[in-house]
Amino acid sequence: MFIPFNKPFLTGKEAHYMYQAVYTGKLSGNGVFTKRCQQFFEERYGLRKCLMTTSGTDALEMAAILCDVRPGDEVIVPSYTFVSTALAFVRQGAKIVFADSCEDNPNIDPGKLEALITERTKVIVPVHYAGVACDMDVIMDIADRHHLFVVEDAAQAIDSYYKGRPLGGIGHFGCFSFHETKNVTAGGEGGLLAINDERFIRRAEIIWEKGTNRAEFFRGMVNKYGWVDTGSSFLPSEINSAFLWAQLESLTEIQACRKALWKQYHEGLKDLAESGYFQMPVIPGYATNNAHMFYLVCRSLEERTRLIAFLKENEVNAVFHYLSLHKSDYYRSISESIPDLPNCDRYADCLVRLPMFFDLKTEEVGRIIDLIRKFYVG
Ligand SMILES: *Cc1c(COP(=O)(O)O)cnc(C)c1O
Repeated sequence: MFIPFNKPFLTGKEAHYMYQAVYTGKLSGNGVFTKRCQQFFEERYGLRKCLMTTSGTDALEMAAILCDVRPGDEVIVPSYTFVSTALAFVRQGAKIVFADSCEDNPNIDPGKLEALITERTKVIVPVHYAGVACDMDVIMDIADRHHLFVVEDAAQAIDSYYKGRPLGGIGHFGCFSFHETKNVTAGGEGGLLAINDERFIRRAEIIWEKGTNRAEFFRGMVNKYGWVDTGSSFLPSEINSAFLWAQLESLTEIQACRKALWKQYHEGLKDLAESGYFQMPVIPGYATNNAHMFYLVCRSLEERTRLIAFLKENEVNAVFHYLSLHKSDYYRSISESIPDLPNCDRYADCLVRLPMFFDLKTEEVGRIIDLIRKFYVG
C-alpha cells in the first residue's frame, strides 16, 4: 500500500458543523463559527485578539499592511521558508533582506541578524520552522533596540511554545495557517492573524473587512459604516471556519497522535543519526515540539535524491521543500545582489520530509523506518 506524504483527514464533526452553518442561514464570514475559532485561540493561548483569514498568506499580508510597510522599507526574512513569508512584504514594496538559517536547525540565525539591520529596516519575520520556536528573546531584544516590528510566521506552529509562551503570541503579530498540510485545516485553506499589540486591533478589523468600519457599526460604536482605510476581503466563509472548528475541538487528540508518530520516527532512527548517516530535528531547551513535521537532513543532494527514489520504489512518498528564496528567479529579477547563505542552501539541498498525518498508522511508520535502515545499513 502506497503511503502518501500527507492526507487530509476528518475528525468526525466537520460535515455536521458545515451543515449547521448552512442551515443557520449565515454563510459569509464573521459568523458564529468564525468567532468560535477566534475565541478558541484567544482563550487557549491567551492571544490578545485573533482574526480568521482565508490563508496563512493573507494573515502575513494583513501583518505587512498593519506594519505600514512601504516602498524603500527593508524586511528581514529567512531564505529557507515558503514564498509567502517574503511575498506578503514584497507586495507592499519592501526590499527583502534574506537571512541564513542556524547550523543545527533551519530557523533564522539570530546571531547574524544585527549585521543585516540598516536605517531602512522595519520588520523581522522569524519563521518557526516545523513548529519549533526561534530564539525569540534574542530576536525581540534586537527588535526593541532598533525599533522594529516582529511578525512571527507561525504557519506551522499551532500549539507550540517558547519558554512557556505560545508561538504567534510573542511578536507584534503572529500568522497561522490551516492549509491542508498543516496540523489542523479549515477544509483545505485558511489562516489566522494574532494581533498581540493592542494599538493595532482597531485597524486590523477595518483592513479585514475591505477597509470599512463594519465591526464598529455592529458593536454600535458608529451609526454608519463606510470606506475608511485600505484593506481587502481577508475573512473566510463560515464553511471554512465550521470545518476548522471540528478540528480544533479535537486538537488535543490530533496532537497526541502526531506526537506519538514523531516519537516513533525519532526513536527508530536515533542510532543512525548518532552514527552520522543524517541529522535529525533538534528541539532546543527553550522550545516545544508540536510534531508538525519529521525530517532528516542528508549528507548531500545526491544522497537525498537516491533516498527519495528508494522510498518511492517502495511505495513511500517522502518530499523535499524550499528552494532557497534568495536564489529564486523572481528574487534575482528584483535584486542587485544575491547573498551567500550556506546553511539555507544545505537545507534546500539535503532536507527530506517523511510522511506525517493524523491517519498515518504505527505499522506504516514502522515500515518507513525499516526502509530507511535498509537504505543506509543494508
Ligand atoms: C504554509 C505556510 C505558509 C502559507 O500558508 P497558506 O495558508 O498556505 O497561505 C506560510 N509560511 C509558512 C512557513 C508555511 O509553512
